[in-house]
Amino acid sequence: MSKGNILKSLALSVDFKSSLLFISLGLVIIVMTLWNWHYDFKPRLINEAQSNTRVLAASYARAIESQFQNISGKTDISAIHNSINEMLLINDPSTGENLYFGVTLEVDYDAFPTDYDLVNFDIGTTNCSDCIITDNPIYKRDSGELIAILKIYANPVFYQRLVSDIIDDLALMLVGIVIVLMLAWLTSNRLLYSLRERERSLIIEIAERKSVEDRLHQIATYDQLTNLPNRYLLQADFTRKLEETARSKKMLATLFFDIDHFKKINDMHGHEAGDALLKLAADRVADVTRNYDLLARFGGDEFVMIMSNIENRSDVIYVAEKIIASFSKTFVLPNTEVQVTASIGISVYPEDGDDPSELLKNADLAMYRAKADGRNGYQFFNAEMNLELQYSQWVETNLREALNNGGLELHFQPQVNLENGKVESCEALIRWPQGSNDNVNPTDFIRIAERTGLINEISRWVLQEACRHVKEWNDQGYETVRVDINLSGKDFADRGVLYSFLQTLRHHNLQPHQIGVEITENILLGSTDQIIKALTVLHNAGVHISIDDFGTGFSSLNYLKQLPLSGIKIDQSFVHEAPSNKDDLIIIQAITLVGHGFGLDVIAEGVETEWHESLCKGVGCNTIQGIYVSEPLPADKFAKKFLKKP
Ligand code: C2E
Ligand code: MG
Ligand code: MG
Repeated sequence: MSKGNILKSLALSVDFKSSLLFISLGLVIIVMTLWNWHYDFKPRLINEAQSNTRVLAASYARAIESQFQNISGKTDISAIHNSINEMLLINDPSTGENLYFGVTLEVDYDAFPTDYDLVNFDIGTTNCSDCIITDNPIYKRDSGELIAILKIYANPVFYQRLVSDIIDDLALMLVGIVIVLMLAWLTSNRLLYSLRERERSLIIEIAERKSVEDRLHQIATYDQLTNLPNRYLLQADFTRKLEETARSKKMLATLFFDIDHFKKINDMHGHEAGDALLKLAADRVADVTRNYDLLARFGGDEFVMIMSNIENRSDVIYVAEKIIASFSKTFVLPNTEVQVTASIGISVYPEDGDDPSELLKNADLAMYRAKADGRNGYQFFNAEMNLELQYSQWVETNLREALNNGGLELHFQPQVNLENGKVESCEALIRWPQGSNDNVNPTDFIRIAERTGLINEISRWVLQEACRHVKEWNDQGYETVRVDINLSGKDFADRGVLYSFLQTLRHHNLQPHQIGVEITENILLGSTDQIIKALTVLHNAGVHISIDDFGTGFSSLNYLKQLPLSGIKIDQSFVHEAPSNKDDLIIIQAITLVGHGFGLDVIAEGVETEWHESLCKGVGCNTIQGIYVSEPLPADKFAKKFLKKP
């Protein structure tokens, strides 16, 4: 509960308590007053009347006594029997109400002179105008003694005053009651009002909080683009599904997949189209997902499907094939239509791991294998892939150290101009020696370096090293040959090697034509305009730019038109197969023809035999490179063997 809410609750409870206090106080006063009224009024009335009557009786008695003394001249007052203890009541016979309280006074009649009017005797200073004195019958006692009985009754005015006092009391009490009731009413009203207000604000607050919480939960656990669970929800559900599967002693499959060349779609058609593609792809895969399976967006163009409680692998294959088939139809995006494929990696519980992160990692590895195997397919994880992972982890940790501590070398492989048989250029190829003639395969570690981002530093080092050797050869008096270095797609990013290329050459006093660049078609998966701009700058400066491994990538002839190229290198796989495979020979012929059509040098790589050489000559290639001429050699050996001194 927030601080504000706590304060509100406190205020509310104070209100509530004070109202209760007022109500109870009011009730106590009412009860006490009623109690007092009931038990006190009557005796009080009687007492007051009695005492008043007694006072009156006493004053009468004194008046009579003094008159008696005056009349009789006697000082003896024994003739007056003051029997004021006897109380009299006069009732209203119609209501039975007690009207007057009285007292009886007995006077010895004989003691008075016979002509004395005892009834109307003068009471002197005693004012008995408010009294009622009844007839005073003269009784004769058994003793023969006569007595006059005076009955004196209390003052009705007093009685009225008493009643009015009581009424005043009553009025006061009623006013008190009314005030208390009003206060109670006001506080209870206020209490009710604040209760209702509080209730209303609580309802609003709860509703608001609920909707905010729902929204936050939605954002935190669902991908906003595809509406699929995100990786956090996946993680939570994955654990639960694993536990269920473990209990049921069945299998669980993790399918990790992404859209092949998604980046290219994003770059070519924009992010909006990329988003639309992701959404459509998610919908299509969701359609082939069984109700009890979990489909989540893992991030970027990566999706994960968890299939729990499966009996065997064929259940998984069935779904994997359905996913792949779901991509076969064209995707209609804003302003364009695209055809894409997906690659799926699959890991299975319990064989391939027993926790979510291991199963995901292994499925991811399997997906990379599916991609390496030509994409648009699926691959189950196997232990060999784990070895690959260990290997790439080893490369990741050791390659930087090799780079910083002189553990890398640059070798040079000659390229022979078929027209004149001269070595006019060479390719610089990186080597990571491990001792005893053992090298780490450059294709492997370059791929890993590209993934980890170390490639930029490597390329910078290659450029520096190539420049250094060319400079050295120059200084040693050798004729200049062009050294082509291999650059990766990542070198075309901002602040990549390409942007400091000419500067580095200048720094070594080299001309732009002395260092060439080899790029593969896959660099065009990046932002094409930016790359073309950068390459154009180099090309215009005189840098020889060739496209490597031509024929293995997208091999779009459009690239040849778009890119500022000087040459193309036919991939060695065609050269190797050409003697035995007619199709490959035709491809070589076609590439050479097209290359020449664009005014480019055509270089054949992987030339291993004389036959390869004559075949390349036959189709019109300009240059050959391969072990038929020489393996890549260390700088000094290369210079000695292939460079000439004029
Ligand atoms: P690539 O650029 O196509 O280089 C040609 C590859 O073919 C080299 O393999 C070379 O040693 C090999 N080769 C040359 N002649 C023959 C032959 O007659 N037969 C056969 N079977 N192979 C031959 P390497 O040095 O293992 O390099 C492999 C790939 O690694 C290169 O292919 C290139 O893509 C990459 N790479 C090598 N060095 C660098 C580098 O310094 N930077 C970058 N970014 N990539 C490099
Ligand atoms: Mg190359
Ligand atoms: Mg090549």
